[in-house]
Amino acid sequence: MCKKNAYSIVHFATNHRFCSFMQCLFYVSLRRSMKTHTFRSKPEFIAILVIAFFCFMAANCHSPSAKAADVKESSTPESPKPGDEKSANTDAAAMPNIDKVKVADPKTILARPEVPILCYHQIRDWKPTDSKTAQAYIVPPASFEEQMKMLADSGYHTILPDQLYAYLNEGTPLPSKPVMLTFDDTDLDQYTVARPIMDKYNFKGVFFVMTVSIGRPRYMTKEQIKDLSDKGHTIGSHTWDHHNVKKFQGQDWVTQIEKPTKQLEAITGKPIKYFAYPFGLWNHEAIPELKKRGMIAAFQLYAKRDEQDPLYTIQRIIVPAMKPASLYKAMNQSFSYK
Ligand SMILES: [Zn+2]
Repeated sequence: MCKKNAYSIVHFATNHRFCSFMQCLFYVSLRRSMKTHTFRSKPEFIAILVIAFFCFMAANCHSPSAKAADVKESSTPESPKPGDEKSANTDAAAMPNIDKVKVADPKTILARPEVPILCYHQIRDWKPTDSKTAQAYIVPPASFEEQMKMLADSGYHTILPDQLYAYLNEGTPLPSKPVMLTFDDTDLDQYTVARPIMDKYNFKGVFFVMTVSIGRPRYMTKEQIKDLSDKGHTIGSHTWDHHNVKKFQGQDWVTQIEKPTKQLEAITGKPIKYFAYPFGLWNHEAIPELKKRGMIAAFQLYAKRDEQDPLYTIQRIIVPAMKPASLYKAMNQSFSYK
């Protein structure tokens, strides 16, 4: 019984870090002596207790911060294990350096669960002149607010394309319950209405700009676009004047992709790397053209991701003025990331 107790004391003492050579030596000799003794006599057992006590004190006294470090260690969530993307907390939201991200093969990318990506257009109240079709693209501010509140209350964290890119290629951990909010077509109310609501929940979004409309009435100015970028939102390209990519020929790639990209880079002072297909329409011919012009990923709507080019066919869903519960259901039905 005594031997068992002495062992546990020594184990307790030696659970603490020994940094000096003497302490290590002392510990080894103590363990060796214990292997050869039964500690039947009381004085011997007391001697071991005293030695173990000194051991314990020596292990702790050299490092005044040991206790603080232990507390910190025990309160820090476990590091995510490889392949366990969901164990990350919000700290994982730090922007990855995507220049260092190695593009994975399509199979690896397709095997990763799809993160919900929501697509918004106008955030304003309906007018009597709005057709039923138009209404599908217009979310009244009260409804948008309800949707954002539901996301926040349900524990969702917004992510940006760099995070998605690192996750899809390298499995870089995402915050819990990731969602991406995207806004197409440069509408002014995205800046004046959606952005302040998102700010309340500390949400960031992706704004896909068609450059022809910059500065026009009811559209964002370049200063507003720059402000979004400066505040940590991502600016992406949505062509010059919203033509169907499937119909592009020759010079169209310069007019619709190259020049708008340069213009947006001049406005934001940052590289433009992400593209949203107008109407969500794409074809295989478009992908090498986008790659040539610096796009590292592109977003479509609804359809399944392409088997050869999943990074250039990332799926989004358009969100109309739906109830928060319906949005929650739609997100879970359309996207596999849980
Ligand atoms: Zn559009």
